[in-house]
Amino acid sequence: EQLRTEETIRRALENERELNELRSRFTSIVSHEFRTPLGIIMSAVELLRNYFGRLDDGQRQELFDDIHGATRRMAALMEQVLVLGRADAGKLSFTPGPVELEALCTKLTDESQSATVKRCPVALETEGDLSGASGDEPLLRHIFSNLLSNAAKYSPAGSVVKFRISRDGGDAVFEVHDQGIGIPEADHPRIFEAFQRAGNVGETPGSGLGLLITKRCVELHGGEISFRSDPGEGTAFTVRLPVFAQ
Ligand code: ADP
Repeated sequence: EQLRTEETIRRALENERELNELRSRFTSIVSHEFRTPLGIIMSAVELLRNYFGRLDDGQRQELFDDIHGATRRMAALMEQVLVLGRADAGKLSFTPGPVELEALCTKLTDESQSATVKRCPVALETEGDLSGASGDEPLLRHIFSNLLSNAAKYSPAGSVVKFRISRDGGDAVFEVHDQGIGIPEADHPRIFEAFQRAGNVGETPGSGLGLLITKRCVELHGGEISFRSDPGEGTAFTVRLPVFAQ
């Protein structure tokens, strides 16, 4: 009886510790991810307000671009928090329908190129017949736009990101392979947790929510996600989705 009570207390303490850790990661990331873009917006607006007449067209454009970029960054974080909230409340529904995988992935590749201002060229490669798939397009969008934007974000500008789609029986197998900073081994076990970022991200902006959202969307499809990565070797995420009727 006493052993059982001890075990219950130990588990409650462990849960409490995890919750506290999550709360402190949440506070630090959300405040940083709001404070930084707000600071950028404030200083750009002040420069425009006080020195508008003295700035040339190029300088004004640069400040407007800063405001635009910072606003997008805040909007993206809000969107991620909302999507995750919906997923946690069980309200992120899985509504499969016919999907043209090759066309969708081409579109998402183009979109991620323009969102990252063509930071890294993406080499899309397909193998086998990918027609006749059934999936949930909005969820697929979350999956691949997150993986593609991470690949570009954590890689040196100009390095190639390979996006490969192939068919394996009833599954579609997607691989997003970059030549970026990699994920240090110590961070591997917790990389899909909320607000969790690796130790080597430096000043690269991010919330630590994208991969968790990606994983939830993969699971809603009944699929699997895995990765391999070594610092200096780049990172390859593999997503396997059972989208073809067998
Ligand atoms: P973030 O908004 O921080 O990018 P994610 O949940 O998408 O959040 O990713 C979690 C963490 O995983 C990132 O902060 C980063 O440390 C690491 N990561 C994800 N994708 C890559 C990648 N392609 N290359 C290197 N590190 C990555």
